[in-house]
Formats: sequence, C-alpha cells, structure tokens
Amino acid sequence: MHEDDSPDPFGYKSHRTAVCEACGKRLPTESDPAIVWGHSLDGQGYSAYCEPCAGKLPVKVVARVVPGPDPALRRPAPRPPTPRSPAPRAPGPPLPAPPSPQKSPAPSQPSAVAHVSITDAVADRIRGTLYGQAIGDALGLGTEFLSKSDVAAYYPNGLSDYEQIVGDEFRSRWYRGDWTDDTDQMLCILDSLLEHRGVVPADIAERFFTWACDDGLGMGFTFEAVVYAPEFLSDPHAAARRLWELGGRRSAANGAVMRTSVLGVWDLGDPEKVRRNAESVSRITHFDPRCVASCVAASLAIAALVGGATVESAIGAAAESAESYQAGLGDWLAAAGTRSLEELDLDEGLNPGESDTIGYTLKALGAGFWALSQAASFAEGVVRVVNEGGDGDTNAAVAGALLGARDGFSAIPGRWVSGLVYEGDLRERVERLLSVL
Ligand SMILES: [Mg+2]
Repeated sequence: MHEDDSPDPFGYKSHRTAVCEACGKRLPTESDPAIVWGHSLDGQGYSAYCEPCAGKLPVKVVARVVPGPDPALRRPAPRPPTPRSPAPRAPGPPLPAPPSPQKSPAPSQPSAVAHVSITDAVADRIRGTLYGQAIGDALGLGTEFLSKSDVAAYYPNGLSDYEQIVGDEFRSRWYRGDWTDDTDQMLCILDSLLEHRGVVPADIAERFFTWACDDGLGMGFTFEAVVYAPEFLSDPHAAARRLWELGGRRSAANGAVMRTSVLGVWDLGDPEKVRRNAESVSRITHFDPRCVASCVAASLAIAALVGGATVESAIGAAAESAESYQAGLGDWLAAAGTRSLEELDLDEGLNPGESDTIGYTLKALGAGFWALSQAASFAEGVVRVVNEGGDGDTNAAVAGALLGARDGFSAIPGRWVSGLVYEGDLRERVERLLSVL
C-alpha cells in the first residue's frame, strides 16, 4: 500500500492505493482514503475486498451494528467464480442467460397523485435520461476497471453491444445487459421520490442500506463505509461527513454523481429545488464538495436539457452553480466543448506508474460533459466513453443520462433498450414517474 501526491486544480492531492493480497492486483476505483486500511472505524472495523478477484484483504472484519436485513443475504453471484488466474486478457465464456425480468418487487402504489402536464418531447427526454443512464451503465460494465489498452485487447473492434461483453471473472457476476450499482442506486432514489413525492434523505438512506444488504453488487468503498456507519440510518449526512473528515477530506469518489440523473427530472422547472435535491442526496454518502458539485452540475444540466434548453445554456447553468461549491469548476465545465476525451485520461491509474484516480468524481463528470458537448449522437457519445476504459460503467452512466436528456429516448438505438435484462422493471418505474410529474 502506498500513497502518492499528484495535485490537480481541484485539490485532489492524494489518493491511497492498495494492492490486493489475494490476487496481487491494484485495487480498482474508489480505493477511498476515508477508509483507514487495516484500522478500525470506531471500533467496528471494515472489510475491504478486491472486486476483480473478490479476495478478502486481511483487514478488520465488519461488525455490523445497525439492525436490518442480514448482510449474508446479498444477491449471490449468477454462477460460481471461475478459478483465479492472472489478469484476464482474452474473452471468456458466455455469460448466463437472463433470469425472469423482475429485478425487484415493484414499489408500492403512491397514495396521492399530483399531475403536471408535460409535452411528448419533454417525456421523451425524461425517458431518455433514465434509459440513457441504465444503458451507459450496462454497456460500460464491459470495460470497467480496464485500461484503454486492455479494452483494445478485449474488444479489438470496439465494444458497442451487450453481447460482446467478455465473461471474465469480474464481469461474470452480472448478466449481459444488466446494469450495475449506479442504476440500482438511482432506482432507490426514484422509488423514494415516487413514495414520498419529494426528497426525504432518511428514506433514501434506508433504501440504500436495504439494497446494500440484499444485493450491494458493485458498491464502492465510500458508499459501503458510510452505509454501515452506526449513525447512518438516523443521520446519513452526519455519517457521510464524519467519514469524509476521518479520511482527511480528500476522498472525492464518483459514487454519487453516478446515480444523480433522476434528480434532474424531478422538480422540473425549479432549478433551485433541483440544486438542493442533488446536494442533499449526494451528501447522504458523498460529502466532499467536488462530489456535491458534480451531482449539482449533472442534475442541473439534465433539468435544463429536459426543459428544452440548448447544450450551451445547460452547461452554463451547471457551471455557474458548480463554481459555488468548488472554485475553478465552472470554467472547467465551460471548457468541456474544447477538451479532448484523451485529455480526460479516463483510465488513469490502470497503467504502470500512474496514481489510481479512475474513480474520481470529476472523471465521470468530465466524461459526461465531454459527450454532451462533442458527441454527434447518443450512440457515438456512449460508445466513445465506454471504449476509454477506466470506470467505464459510471462514466458511461453519466454520459448516457446527459445524452439522453439532450437527444431523448427516441434517439437511443432500440437494441440497447430491448437488450436490458430488466427493461420491464425500468419501464414500469419510468412510466410511473411520468404519471406523477
Ligand atoms: Mg457500477
């Protein structure tokens, strides 16, 4: 384990990197300084594991003191792991066939309905936002934690369809066409909005906790550390703040911006409410101002686009608000139209000699605003981001949501919609959302 100092314009000065003792690989994204490796948090301990090999690091065992569902009931892997081998470089066997389409029980029917008429074009962009997030997430799984050169080895002709996704040890925990934690958590927020008709942080926290215990597949280190903190269910913002401060206020992982899209389509027409909602939901698990700024910027841009604003205007609104959380971020976002995708270096940390920064929130935000500014189509933007590697699912989830808000559901290739394993589940939620807006 080592740390390095590689300052960036936003104060991301240090990122702790750990090597999994089970497989020897560097731990991927979100190796979070909020987690004091090998030490206990408030006497509870923390168990970290390497996602590629699922090997347990020899650190403290988690003592879950918060009552709730049994953590042992996490969703099992869809099939037993294959024997451990050196870092995979070749396509593996096919992934298993999809199960029945119901991913989780449908949320209960809301008690009251407040109808606001929306045009067909607005509805198309709302659908585009949420499907865009899910599709980016599901396609991006194919390159998650791969360097760009690994992506080229896995997918010599590029990755553009779920069926191509290599069934290596990491990816075989999902089905082809399945989304990951990014969209699972977005749906926790959506279900809470449908139930309460507004942002209720304690309820969203409870849904995050239940999901972490029942499923939790792919969740990041920051999320896991905060969700199992003793005060999380009673005061999630306090839990997130405490762990962020405990980690030296350095952690700025992408685990909040990846799920924020739905907050851009709620309270449409009221940017100040959108800003407050995004801020509040970010701070349930991610307290760093760069995380909050990322959520606010992405949500405000989506809200503007869904409402019919131009890309230039949407970026302007996002940049102005982001600047109030993080000096310099406004100009950085405003320059999204001139920055190259290579300049964002989305796979930074996965090549020899690089510090581990692929899980940094501004990587995902940068990928999203690059796509919004420069991609000619939804498909082009998502495919380009996916094939950069790094935290592919999260980068593409953010890009997909922004592109979907820009271009609408009708611009998304049908094969990506029908190929989602849980498309019916998503459609039911999205249509219920549209019925209450
Ligand atoms: Mg994910």
